[in-house]
Amino acid sequence: MPVFDLHSHSTHSDGLLTPPQLVARAARRGVTTLALTDHDDTGGLAAAREAAREAGIAFVSGVEISVTWHDQTLHIVGLRVDPENEQLAAGLAQVRSGRGDRAVRIAAALEQAGIGGSLEGARAHAANPQLVGRTHFARFLIERGHARDTHGVFKKYLATGKPGYVPHQWASLEQAIGWIRASGGIPVLAHPGRYKLDNAQREIMLENFRDLGGIGVEVVTGSQTREQFALWGRYARRFGFLASAGSDYHGPGESYRDLGALPELPHGCTPVWSVF
Ligand code: AMP
Ligand code: MN
Ligand code: MN
Ligand code: MN
Repeated sequence: MPVFDLHSHSTHSDGLLTPPQLVARAARRGVTTLALTDHDDTGGLAAAREAAREAGIAFVSGVEISVTWHDQTLHIVGLRVDPENEQLAAGLAQVRSGRGDRAVRIAAALEQAGIGGSLEGARAHAANPQLVGRTHFARFLIERGHARDTHGVFKKYLATGKPGYVPHQWASLEQAIGWIRASGGIPVLAHPGRYKLDNAQREIMLENFRDLGGIGVEVVTGSQTREQFALWGRYARRFGFLASAGSDYHGPGESYRDLGALPELPHGCTPVWSVF
């Protein structure tokens, strides 16, 4: 039976496993097609592809692009992207360049909240110096005893509106979709149930995504429930999106679902892999 997991992270962004470690775990857990989708960076793809070839599983080159849409941060996964494409590479470099300055601002905000040394602390957890993100701050804060686990630390310090949260301007939705499509990839709206939107705003998001060239929606994802899978399956059918499935795995002890531990797509969805 084929097992698709089309959303995962390595040490090239905020995952805990190197690309070869991630691929080995996926293969061991029965995944037959894996996509590596690091945040705003494609540096892990070559090593992951090689490891997948050795392990005898299929590999999909991916990326997860951070987007600002109205006052929300959306994540757009690109599947089957070409990391050599100049438009994509330049776009991702631009998104990454904003992260350094944001990390400085997060550290200043935490300093205001009485927590010093977090910039150095977060950097020490980031294997990719261009990709310091909130997860690295979270690991530092847990290490210092400010919270027990990732979920707790986001709730207390790093989620929207909390003391260590700073607003940031990421790529536009149009840019992210444009870069992915320019590189031959398939734009997929990641974990759609995570965005704080009412029903009307949701529909505007889906229409906007489709009008700008979006093709897929993650119907089955690590951080959502079965009821949400059914709901997003209905949205996908109604708006004509292909359906994707991905665990959003970040590493042992940090994710709701392990690699490949995903239920089947709801009945009637057309899988995104039907166009692979
Ligand atoms: P950034 O792109 O630096 O803002 O970091 C976003 C990442 O933080 C996501 O990809 C998740 O890995 C992590 N994250 C965001 N919210 C939460 C949460 N509530 N619990 C655990 N991890 C989270
Ligand atoms: Mn992440
Ligand atoms: Mn995400
Ligand atoms: Mn992700």
